[in-house]
Amino acid sequence: MNVKRMCLFVLLGSMASVGQLLAQDFVVQGIDWNNSNARVAQFFTVGEVFASPAGVDWNRRNALFSLPEAERDRIISNILSMAARLDEVRLQYGRIAITSWFRDAETNRRVSGAPNSWHLQGLAVDMRPLDRNGQEVQDSLEGYWSGGLGRGWERHGFIHLDLGPRRAWDY
Ligand SMILES: [Zn+2]
Repeated sequence: MNVKRMCLFVLLGSMASVGQLLAQDFVVQGIDWNNSNARVAQFFTVGEVFASPAGVDWNRRNALFSLPEAERDRIISNILSMAARLDEVRLQYGRIAITSWFRDAETNRRVSGAPNSWHLQGLAVDMRPLDRNGQEVQDSLEGYWSGGLGRGWERHGFIHLDLGPRRAWDY
């Protein structure tokens, strides 16, 4: 290996070590996680996976891609499982707005999420129905959704859904 090539490798190595990623590094499972409009399911996008009250929060994406690759890939598989289930909810109840989906550990602490929140695993969303009455949808989900249902509609204006065990509680 000549010196010039060795310098290039050292340079690339140091770039990776400070967590800088090339655009192509964001393509995982055929999805460009650098494109907010890329689809993760029929009705849902990358932008919704990293949704925050202030819009797309790319810090959440960056935190996800800073995790060890195996953990990152496990969470991405979780996100895609959740997305497939949300497609079914969308077909059943009409359009829904996602207000929160994946949360990294720091974001979860900041919003006072449960320490073991399913949001950390990409397996929970907070959402608001757009086509139907929120209260009606929440009531109906109790008989429909097979995971966790957080009844937050009355107090917070959103409904929490997760892929944990079937249970329901009031926020
Ligand atoms: Zn939630």
